[in-house]
Amino acid sequence: MADLVIKGGTVLDTAGERVSDVLIRGGHVVDVGPGLSGDEVLDASGCLVTPGLVDVHVHLREPGMEEAETIETGARAAALGGYTAVVAMPNTTPALDDPIVVRAVLAAARHASCEVASSGAITRGRKGEELAPLGEMHALGVRLFTDDGDCVADAGVMRRALEYSRMLPGAVISQHAEDPDLVAGGAMHEGEWSSRLGIPGRPAAAEEVIVARDVILAGLTGARVHFQHVSTAGAVELVRQAKARGLAVTAEAAPHHFTLTDECCASFDPLFKVNPPLRTAADLAAIKAGLADGTIDCVATDHAPHPTEAKERPFAEAPSGMLGLETALALVWDELVEPGVLTPVQAFAACSWNPAAIAGLGHHGGPVAADAPANLCVFDPALRWEVDPGRLASRARNTPYGGRRLTGKVRHTVLHGDVVVRDGTATR
Ligand SMILES: [Zn+2]
Repeated sequence: MADLVIKGGTVLDTAGERVSDVLIRGGHVVDVGPGLSGDEVLDASGCLVTPGLVDVHVHLREPGMEEAETIETGARAAALGGYTAVVAMPNTTPALDDPIVVRAVLAAARHASCEVASSGAITRGRKGEELAPLGEMHALGVRLFTDDGDCVADAGVMRRALEYSRMLPGAVISQHAEDPDLVAGGAMHEGEWSSRLGIPGRPAAAEEVIVARDVILAGLTGARVHFQHVSTAGAVELVRQAKARGLAVTAEAAPHHFTLTDECCASFDPLFKVNPPLRTAADLAAIKAGLADGTIDCVATDHAPHPTEAKERPFAEAPSGMLGLETALALVWDELVEPGVLTPVQAFAACSWNPAAIAGLGHHGGPVAADAPANLCVFDPALRWEVDPGRLASRARNTPYGGRRLTGKVRHTVLHGDVVVRDGTATR
């Protein structure tokens, strides 16, 4: 069996940082230390060698909207972004709300460039009414349940989902926290900019009332609740208080919520339309503070591909969502690590081992040590590059970061011991 050695890098994982080579054989790390050699060498000089990234929130659009993305193209984009595992959201057509569809997604992902875990819808058809067969999906390995794209608005349904999830080991109920009545008709954050632009708003309160309610339900049921794409200062504070009370609550933030504000919507460019919407500078600062103090456990992209024609409609009519997988780590590096908001170890905790733990993806997130599965990211923190939407691996082009210069790029990605990205190029 051929040996692969990642040479000359700095290994970074839960144990901290040390200069080491990494020897891989048969899908596993077999040695970490100086002076290792192997049949095949991956140059990691100047790079960090870390556990592969994990994204608990991606839309791969298959089945149903393959013109925007497929499992194959989305997983390739993920691998190029340093991800070795992603959790696919259930708002496909049909929805991922029963074992047959989940099984089909897992089968389609078998040879993908990263591991694709399926989420399961909380309710049938994501309609928010009747519980989906959570137990049957759990038996197929589903751990993260969500109606993402929509909020579970009915408190009784949410309570039953939480109670049911307690009987399913490792299961977590994830909430897209936006009260549908409060956001109805809104297309951007409700505030000074929405008034000025004459675009109907989605108030911060829409997110916060659901987070507050679900924190209370977490206390009532003792179940785990994960808040998706937390975007407001008030929601961050509610999560902070819930954690202080010892509740089993976790939260994620998306890169666009710590890099862009509602002012971007002044361009009327639907590339900046997303749910929950881009918020104010004060909210952005609160997201960063929440990541820094651990209130927000992880970064999740909410990678949401859309066909170009759809994103060329007027702002109010265009679909919500933006790409994220190929730019996330560089944005974390530029906006959080370089300015000193997060240490490198905190950044990779938020992008790798914390989300792996939330989603129950035990083969990911490290540590980089003998006998561990070889799911690794080799990241060059000094490489400068410019985001060119035309060169993304994603089938869609709806990134708001086109033309932006970033520092930090993934050089190699290793999945189960196979090199799926070599020198910045996907190999499958
Ligand atoms: Zn969502």
